Amino acid sequence: YEVFVSDMGKIKERYKDMLNNYGIEWEEGQHSPDKILDAEEIVKSPGIPDSAPIVVQATQKNIRIINEIEFAGRYTDAKMICITGSNGKTTTTSLIYHILKNANYNVGLAGNIGRSLALQIAEGCTYEYYVIELSSFQLDNMYDFHANIAVLLNITPDHLDRYDNDMEKYAESKMRITQNQEDSDAFIYWADDPIIQKELKKHGIKAQHCPFSIVSKKGMIGYIEQGQYTLETPMPFNMEQESLSLHGKHNMYNSLAAVIASRLAGVSDHKLKESLSDFEGVEHRLEYVARVRGVDYINDSKATNVNSCWYALQSMTQKTILILGGKDKGNDYTEIADLVREKCVGLIYMGLHNEKLHDFFDPFGLPVADVQSMQDAVDAAYRMAQKGEAVLLSPCCASFDLFKSYEDRGEQFKQCVRKL
Ligand code: ADP
Repeated sequence: YEVFVSDMGKIKERYKDMLNNYGIEWEEGQHSPDKILDAEEIVKSPGIPDSAPIVVQATQKNIRIINEIEFAGRYTDAKMICITGSNGKTTTTSLIYHILKNANYNVGLAGNIGRSLALQIAEGCTYEYYVIELSSFQLDNMYDFHANIAVLLNITPDHLDRYDNDMEKYAESKMRITQNQEDSDAFIYWADDPIIQKELKKHGIKAQHCPFSIVSKKGMIGYIEQGQYTLETPMPFNMEQESLSLHGKHNMYNSLAAVIASRLAGVSDHKLKESLSDFEGVEHRLEYVARVRGVDYINDSKATNVNSCWYALQSMTQKTILILGGKDKGNDYTEIADLVREKCVGLIYMGLHNEKLHDFFDPFGLPVADVQSMQDAVDAAYRMAQKGEAVLLSPCCASFDLFKSYEDRGEQFKQCVRKL
């Protein structure tokens, strides 16, 4: 191919070096329409919305716009294990990868988790399996790609600003993970999600259905019964819930999905148990940071929507001071209202526009603080917290108003806590 890279922002030096080494032409700080609109095909970064003027122009000219995974998928015969959902993607993807790797599979990791599939394939990786995290934005530009094992964890409101505030459109995009699946493929999904159930009726999914639930009931492939993770025949499996390293209700779903996917890929009972008990979790997801003067500090910076904060609060066993706020994506805080009343002893609003948080939570009568930096947030939490309580950063929002990314927000939190 004759390749041209165009970035409206700045390209990092290390990527410029890489492009130059491969002799690839690039531009930054602009999109040159003459070059871009002359393309046969455009591989668009999922971060660029369809409403971006250059994308609108390309669409009007009927230029095919695809995602990087779609593009790369044309050049490999590897088996694809793909994970999507509103929450739990990275955890489940990392867990499945950990299990396969530990069982000595020839396996690669790619997608939304931060590794390019195309780059790995272009550089000659010959993995037999890829474990791929897929966001809805990636799925939006996928057409012929085929997931051998597809996992759909849940569908709850997120990124609705990019879907005209239309939940149906967002759900449709998540369901694309099943498109092109055949009889010999598998579709693993959370059976108790009402939106998934509704979508199942609309889509004729050919793949073998593998529903899971955290309670035992008819038709489930995987469930938890009397403290045991259990899979049905033809791939029976049993494991004491206590022996899993991941805790919290949300991780029961993630672990069940990972167990089913790994068993379908043929991982032995013994190896699976070993990996489930030694998985260390993923940074910025309910990550324990430190205990300072009897107060536990927990970093859940990756909770960028209300639903993931709900799960974080739900798993808290101590009275909690919650740090939340940031770039609001059309949040409705009603979902966490009861848990805030039950578990929180203080709230710290951290964002450039905290009015919505004030309007919603101030009537609860809890001590509140307004801050616009992580240092101030941690200082305020330190002043509020009593021995035996916890401070939880679980913002419900994107980080882009005050931070570079959720990782940056989590790192700053950890640094400020460690300095206390
Ligand atoms: P994603 O990659 O989909 O954003 P992560 O695995 O990074 O998901 O987890 C992000 C946050 O979402 C976690 O910190 C946790 O609070 C919450 N979470 C994780 N798994 C689930 C789940 N299955 N259901 C609901 N919330 C979850």
